[in-house]
Amino acid sequence: MSSSELPEWMETDLQQIREAGLFRSRRTFQPQPGGRCLLEDRELINFSSNDYLDLAQDPRLVSAASEVLTELGVGARASALVSGRTNWHTRLEEQLAEFEGTESALLFPSGYAANLGVISAVAQEEDTIFCDRLNHASLIDGCRLSGARFRVYRHDALEKLKRELAKSTGAGRKFIVTDSVFSMDGISAPLPDLCELADEFRASLIIDEAHGTGVYGKDGRGLAEELGVEDRVTIRIGTLSKAVGCLGGFVAGSATLIDWLWNRVRTQIYSTALPPSICAAACAALQIIQTEPERRTRLQELSQALRSGLRERPHLTVPDSRGPIIPVVLSDPALTMQVASDLQETGFLVGAIRPPTVPQGTSRLRISLTCAHQREDLERFLKALDGSLARNGQSR
Ligand code: PMP
Repeated sequence: MSSSELPEWMETDLQQIREAGLFRSRRTFQPQPGGRCLLEDRELINFSSNDYLDLAQDPRLVSAASEVLTELGVGARASALVSGRTNWHTRLEEQLAEFEGTESALLFPSGYAANLGVISAVAQEEDTIFCDRLNHASLIDGCRLSGARFRVYRHDALEKLKRELAKSTGAGRKFIVTDSVFSMDGISAPLPDLCELADEFRASLIIDEAHGTGVYGKDGRGLAEELGVEDRVTIRIGTLSKAVGCLGGFVAGSATLIDWLWNRVRTQIYSTALPPSICAAACAALQIIQTEPERRTRLQELSQALRSGLRERPHLTVPDSRGPIIPVVLSDPALTMQVASDLQETGFLVGAIRPPTVPQGTSRLRISLTCAHQREDLERFLKALDGSLARNGQSR
C-alpha cells in the first residue's frame, strides 16, 4: 500500500457507516434573505440555520464588518495574547460585559473552543463533573479532556443527580455542566433547580447559552436571564455564531474569572484571535439584540405557531420542547432521511439528525426557525410533512 492510499480500517469503517445508513455527504449551500438558501441552484426555505434573529446578512453587520475588513485586513495574524487582540476585540469584550452585566468578558475562536477549553481548564483529575446526558459534544469533550470523574445525569430525574452529588465526598471540586437549551430537543434545562443543588452541595454550575443568547430573556441575555438565575451561575459561556449571526465564543464574568481564563485556557491561548471584522459585526449585532426585541417576539410567535400545528401529531413531538428548535421525532434513521429528502423536493431544508448525534431510536427532523420566516412557510411545511409521512406509510 502506498502512503497516499486510504488505510484499510478507514475503508471498513466507512463501509460500516454506510451500511448503518449513517453516512454524511457534503453539500454546498448559499444563504439567501428571508430564511432561504440555495442548494444546487434551487431555492429552499431554510429550516436548519441557527441565525435565529436573521442577523447574519443584516446590512448593519455587513457594513460594520466591511469597514474593518478594509482597514485591518482579513486575518488577526496571531493569537490574542501574542498580538492578535485589536481595538475591535477589546471593544467587543467590553460590549459583551456590558450586555451581560458582568465586570468583564473574554472571546474564544468558537463556542466549541470556549466549552472545550473552559471545562478542561477548570476541572482536574481529582474533581467530579456532573454532565447532562443531552449536553452538546463540545461540553462532553471538555469533560473528557479534563480527566475528571465524569457522571452523566438526566435533567428530568434530578433525584439521581442529588444522590450522586451527595455520594461525591472526595477532596476534589464538583462541577455541574449543562446546556441552557438542549440543541437537539429545544428543551430548557431546569436552571433554578440546578442552582439549588449547586448551592446545597457546593458545586460550581457551568452553563452553555449557545441557543439561549439573543433568543431568551427580556433583554436577550439567555435562559439564565429569563429564569432570574444569572448571578447564581458560576460560569456562563456563549457563542456569537447563532443568534448573534457571526462567529466566536465568549465567557462573561468577574474580572478575576476572566483573568484566570485568559491565563489558563489553552483553546484561547494557542489559537489565532477572531478576525477583527467579525468582532465589529458582533458589536453591531449586540446593539440590535438590545434595541430590537421585536425580533425575539416574532421568533417566539412563529415557534408557537409551528408547535401548535405539530400538536395535532403528538407522537412526533418532544414534550416540554419550546422555542425555535423544534424536533419531529421519526425514530428510524432511514425514514428520517427519506422524509427530509421528500421535504427538500417540496422546497424545505430541514436537518435529519441521526445517531450518534442523538440516542439510538430517536432519529429526528430538527427544524430551527428564524424571525425571517413567514407564517405561510410554516403552513406549507406542515402540509408537506403530512404528505411525506403518508407516502411513507406513517399515519397521523
Ligand atoms: N454549544 C451548543 C449547544 C451548540 O449547539 C453549538 C453549535 N452547534 C456549540 C456549543 C458550538 O458553538 P460554535 O458553533 O460557536 O462553535
